[in-house]
Amino acid sequence: MEGKEKKIKITPIEHGTVIDHIKKGQGMKVLRILDLVDREIDSIVSMAMNVNSSMGKKDIVKVEGKELKNEEFDKISLISPNATVNIIRDYEVIKKHRVGLPDFAKGIVRCKNSNCITNQSEPVETEFEVTGEDPVKLRCTYCDREMTGEEISENVI
Ligand SMILES: [Zn+2]
Repeated sequence: MEGKEKKIKITPIEHGTVIDHIKKGQGMKVLRILDLVDREIDSIVSMAMNVNSSMGKKDIVKVEGKELKNEEFDKISLISPNATVNIIRDYEVIKKHRVGLPDFAKGIVRCKNSNCITNQSEPVETEFEVTGEDPVKLRCTYCDREMTGEEISENVI
């Protein structure tokens, strides 16, 4: 029976991106990061949650007609560092890579500290040093506030 479950696949796409091995429960966040939630879109988007894989449960997101920007890679890596991104052209995977954590996250996460200069009226871009990988840990360059887990996923801009 288990073998049967493994064969379930969501519709193949002609051109676009498949983000695989998303940490279980983070699929919706990935859709939000890609700005595919609560707005009208033309492309076909599908998400599978709690899919069985050799490394446990995972979420998968498929987006027709979209290739990711570097900034989007970085954001996804912060909430799911083991995710892989497959670029599809003509139904074939032409490129597959892990998102990989950056050394610094600039302008993609809000600081949790409301007194931080990046949360004042000053036009200061947020900057965090990535200080941990599993789980991901960030430290604000300006106020030293550390963030991890849900705090990060809730504050991805
Ligand atoms: Zn801060």
